[in-house]
Amino acid sequence: MTDLLSLTPDAARQSLTAWLTARGEPAYRIRQLTPRLWERPVPRWADATDLPAPLREALDLDFPLGRLTVAAHQVSADGTEKFLWTLADGQAVESVLIPEGKRRTLCISSQVGCALGCVFCATGTMGWSRNLTPGEIAGQVREIRLQSAERSPTNVVFMGMGEPLLNWESVDVALTILNHPEGLGIGARHITLSTVGILPKLALFAKRPEQFRLAVSLHAPTQAMRKELMPVEKKYSLPELLGALQGFERRVTLEYVLIAGKNDSLEAAEALAKIASPLAALVNLLPLHPGGAPGLSPSPRAHMLAFERRLKDRGVEAVLRRSRGLDIAAACGQLRVERELGRKVPAQEHAGVE
Ligand code: SAH
Ligand code: SF4
Repeated sequence: MTDLLSLTPDAARQSLTAWLTARGEPAYRIRQLTPRLWERPVPRWADATDLPAPLREALDLDFPLGRLTVAAHQVSADGTEKFLWTLADGQAVESVLIPEGKRRTLCISSQVGCALGCVFCATGTMGWSRNLTPGEIAGQVREIRLQSAERSPTNVVFMGMGEPLLNWESVDVALTILNHPEGLGIGARHITLSTVGILPKLALFAKRPEQFRLAVSLHAPTQAMRKELMPVEKKYSLPELLGALQGFERRVTLEYVLIAGKNDSLEAAEALAKIASPLAALVNLLPLHPGGAPGLSPSPRAHMLAFERRLKDRGVEAVLRRSRGLDIAAACGQLRVERELGRKVPAQEHAGVE
């Protein structure tokens, strides 16, 4: 058995071609098979009714198509949707679909949980269980495309559960699947990887020739402040991270969650401006969402606006983001699969906000 959905489209094509040849199938079959993986996906080979039945049966045996099943689907009052997926082994992850005009951005997970334990993050509080396979990562997009082609995401951000660069092997393949014309065909500029900065892997990401976008979760402009919020600072320090970003050829976005009394002072804004300016980085300011360690509260709105203003006054392009999907706990950093759920979630539970 081969998991074709965890291979790059080129590798999947090779694997299928060899299999077809061994069975004495005509050469044109490959053109019928490969689009069924990603472009015009089928839930199972049995559903590719343009193929002879015996061939479909053989495909289902040798190349079963892995699925993520919807354990819960919630729709927010603002149109944001949250999907809780159950994986083949009963583990669960979440994705969030954020519609905005013509754009449909899917926020995808790369790991079950996360080992890095940033104090403000809900996923961080659940610890790490396992890495997702490439098929499970790109499969989050595939499942929505299976539901309806029109709903297919136009943009993808690795801002769901997990640290993508701690699962680089799978994420590397998933990036190819997302972007490849015989994969999901999403433009590289519409795919954003968000990371706290796992330096050796960041170098590998930077080497990819496609114009994938990079968002770096900075959250603090000094080592001392960052260490309080993000344990990873002890391993990959801020100066090293900034050094690595200097060498990154494309424009970087810096993510900065504003936490009352921790990192939201105007001095912090000044220090952040000194970091962002030489990088010509865009700064995304995010209101703190609930779900991390107790005792942290969002920066008051007036503080956030003043912080944004100060960055702009220093010539930094900064955007204070709106929170989306808060009513269904679908905002970035709020994703955490409750342990009790697991296998017990009834299938297709729709808890939509009417
Ligand atoms: N591990 C990666 C990607 C997943 S987190 C990373 O940390 O970059 C996706 C984004 O959500 C990150 O920018 C993260 O810092 C942010 N985030 C985490 N907890 C949050 C919270 N409580 N409120 C707002 N944003 C949060
Ligand atoms: Fe992990 Fe990102 Fe959450 Fe930090 S913010 S715990 S790296 S998912």
